[in-house]
Amino acid sequence: MQIFFKVFIGILLLTSISCSQNNQKSGQTDEKGLTLSEKVKEVMTKQVQDKLTPDEILEDLLTGNERYVSGELITRNLPEQVASTTEGQYPKAVVLACIDSRVPVEYIFDQGVGDIFVVRVAGNIEDEALLGSMEYGLGVAGSKLLMVLGHENCGAVKSAIKKVDVGSDNVTALLNEIEPAIEEVEGERDAKNKEFFDAVIKNNVHQTIEDIRNRSSIISGLENDGKIKVVGAYYSLTDGKVTILNDNAHEGHEH
Ligand SMILES: [Zn+2]
Repeated sequence: MQIFFKVFIGILLLTSISCSQNNQKSGQTDEKGLTLSEKVKEVMTKQVQDKLTPDEILEDLLTGNERYVSGELITRNLPEQVASTTEGQYPKAVVLACIDSRVPVEYIFDQGVGDIFVVRVAGNIEDEALLGSMEYGLGVAGSKLLMVLGHENCGAVKSAIKKVDVGSDNVTALLNEIEPAIEEVEGERDAKNKEFFDAVIKNNVHQTIEDIRNRSSIISGLENDGKIKVVGAYYSLTDGKVTILNDNAHEGHEH
């Protein structure tokens, strides 16, 4: 009899704890006064992915970047987004970016769970595994935009300019990937020269795009058919702004 009583009290306690937790969750508001259930829970679906054009997706990312810069990020119901993306994903874009911790790609474009594929490697270069990842995103999973994103004051590019040797074949191989982009830029090879450094960062983006086109018939085929768009971009560590780079010239221009 005593045992039954204890179990009964236990159940009562558990029920009241879980009730108060639920009340807290649905009743709590964030700094914008939104409850969890009022936050954005929509995720990318096949229908939405099919409908979007590459240009619309680029616009969407750049609008997201404007929100990031102004600190007006969309407040998302992340648990709901996690739950509704468990069975599948239909991301709109693939972003190849550097590993730099100051380049948080989803934040930069204000994207949620299941919205974009992010491929990251120091110096945003391409190799077999990275090409395979990008081909999966664009050729299999249906993403329609490939963005190669370089960034201000990139440590990998700086190390390549300075021919840093840390005694690792792996690091040397990585820096060697950036070398051709350095050699193409005129001026004194000096990372302290901001103009030269920036020009190399941007040229490295162009070089990566050119290599991707040459090395992946899947990606260049999709691009030639107009099914996807490939763009280069530059992220400013100073103000968080993303600028689209001109495809042919080695100069950036405001989108
Ligand atoms: Zn970097």
